Amino acid sequence: MSDLKSCVRDIPNFPKDGIIFKDITTLLRDGKKFREAVDLFAEELKDKSIDIVLGIEARGFIFGAALAYKLGCGIAPIRKKGKLPHKTRSVTYDLEYGTDTLEIHQDAFQKGARILIVDDLLATGGTCRAVIDLVEEMGGKIESIAFLIELTALKGREKLKGHPIISLIKDEYC
Ligand code: AMP
Repeated sequence: MSDLKSCVRDIPNFPKDGIIFKDITTLLRDGKKFREAVDLFAEELKDKSIDIVLGIEARGFIFGAALAYKLGCGIAPIRKKGKLPHKTRSVTYDLEYGTDTLEIHQDAFQKGARILIVDDLLATGGTCRAVIDLVEEMGGKIESIAFLIELTALKGREKLKGHPIISLIKDEYC
């Protein structure tokens, strides 16, 4: 686990001052490490039945797609407003300054579908909380939520109210 952590590159003050951006491209470009991460996720999920993976734009698509392949299920994208071509359902949530909106195709999954949500990183939990609200409003059943990295000091986990969470790398972020 600590080995995976050392493959993530810290970029201070990106995209703005005070943020340490967790750059996962250094892990992704290493085939063995990328495979190790996907295999670790799959191992943690081995007792779950998943109908569909929902990948959060954009880095959630990378691990989401690999996991969907591995689990033998489909994947649907959750995207920023205006990117999806068909009819959508949307959720708007608060950021530090202003709001953001995420969308999913209204027919991405059926009521009762067993869902795995995937993103690269859990920070404050605001993004994932919004996705949970959207999925539950559409009748999806969240089986698990998978992140490569969890910034533990930001306590995002507390916003995700009892849903099973997998995070392969725990980072204090301080
Ligand atoms: P949050 O809603 O605060 O949990 O933020 C999670 C989303 O923002 C994820 O989609 C991440 O990709 C991105 N994010 C937040 N903080 C960072 C960070 N320090 N490094 C890289 N991505 C981040």
